[in-house]
This record gives sequence, structure tokens and C-alpha cells, in this order.
Amino acid sequence: MSRKKELLTLMNIDTSWFVDKPSYNVQQASFDDIKLEASNCQKCILSETRSNVVFGKGNQNAKILIIGEAPGKDEDLKGEPFIGRAGKLLTEILFSIKLNREDVYITNTVKCRPPENRNPSAEEISSCEHFLDKQINIISPSIIILLGKVAAERILNTSEPMSSLRGKVHYYKDSNIPTLVFYHPAYLLRSPSEKSKVWDDILFMKGITSVS
Ligand code: URA
Repeated sequence: MSRKKELLTLMNIDTSWFVDKPSYNVQQASFDDIKLEASNCQKCILSETRSNVVFGKGNQNAKILIIGEAPGKDEDLKGEPFIGRAGKLLTEILFSIKLNREDVYITNTVKCRPPENRNPSAEEISSCEHFLDKQINIISPSIIILLGKVAAERILNTSEPMSSLRGKVHYYKDSNIPTLVFYHPAYLLRSPSEKSKVWDDILFMKGITSVS
């Protein structure tokens, strides 16, 4: 049994849907191509103020793809997603369900930091969307987790509040990939009393494998 399947079993997640994927060199090459394309991208104004493109990081064969909002200052400086305080909490949340960051793939709706950490605009997200689509195509995750309202609204094209988006199975575009909405770790840091609700999100994720 692979380590990923072992971890999902430990989480009491039904693994009957889980197919161990071999790692293809071809996939690796095309992932690198997309990364290179992103590093030269000037499709939107975020390219003018970025220090680094934050393409994404993690296991390219991951079953769980996590999509945040946009890189912040730390991420922009280092070129890696979720390495600041919110990232530390995300790592702890993953660790609490016996997952390491290397078990999942983490990226954002946009690959460049919006100045002053403002929300990325709909136009910026749509200019960057083709990178996300290509990443999803290659990773082919079993579950996508959208962190927070901005990612959820823009990716699911909805204006429904978080309260009605969480705890439901959505689908990424016209794919059949179950897509869940979790609270953003930055929100949980700002509202510590809500932290326990992350367990509801995780329990829901464990439960939906029978839906997929
Ligand atoms: N918040 C995000 O949404 N993404 C990051 O990469 C860091 C913080």
C-alpha cells in the first residue's frame, strides 16, 4: 500500500476510490513547462510588482489539491505558497490529519502577489486561470479544497456566503472533481473562536468519499 493510501486509511477515509498513480516523466516535463511559462507571464498587472511567481508546491501526484487566494509578502519573497503565519496553521491542520505538505499540492487562484495583499480581481484570476487549469489537468486530484471566500467565489462563480458553501460538494468547472470550501487559515487566525470549525470541514471531507 502506498504511503498516501495508508494515510487516508488512517484517517478512516474510504480508499476504494483511490488509484495509485505512477509518476510520469512526461508529466514532470510538462509541469516544468507550465512553471516556466508562469515565471515569464506578464498577462496582468500583478506581474509588474511581483518579486517571484508563486506557482505552487507539493506532490504533483497528490490526491488533495489545496487552492488559496493569492500569495502574500512572505510567499512573494520566497516564491512558495503558504509559508507565512497562515501557512503555518495550514501545515498544522494537515498534520492533525496525519498529512504532510508533501502529501498534497498547494497553490493559489493567482500566482503573483496583489499589492498590499488586496484581493485579486476577477480579471486577474481569469488571466491566471489557465495555469490552474493546467495544474489540475496534470495533478488530476481526487479532491480540491478551496480556502476561503475569495477562492470559493471566483472559482465556483458564486456569491453565496461561506456559511452555505462550506459542508457541500461542489465541482471544479465541468469536471467531476469534488471541490470543497474550507475556512481560510488567515481567517481562522483573525477569528480564533472559529478555529474548531475546521474540524467540521475535515470531517465533511472524510465523509464525502462516499459521494464521489
Ligand atoms: N494566503 C493565501 O491565500 N495564499 C498564500 O500562499 C498565502 C497566504
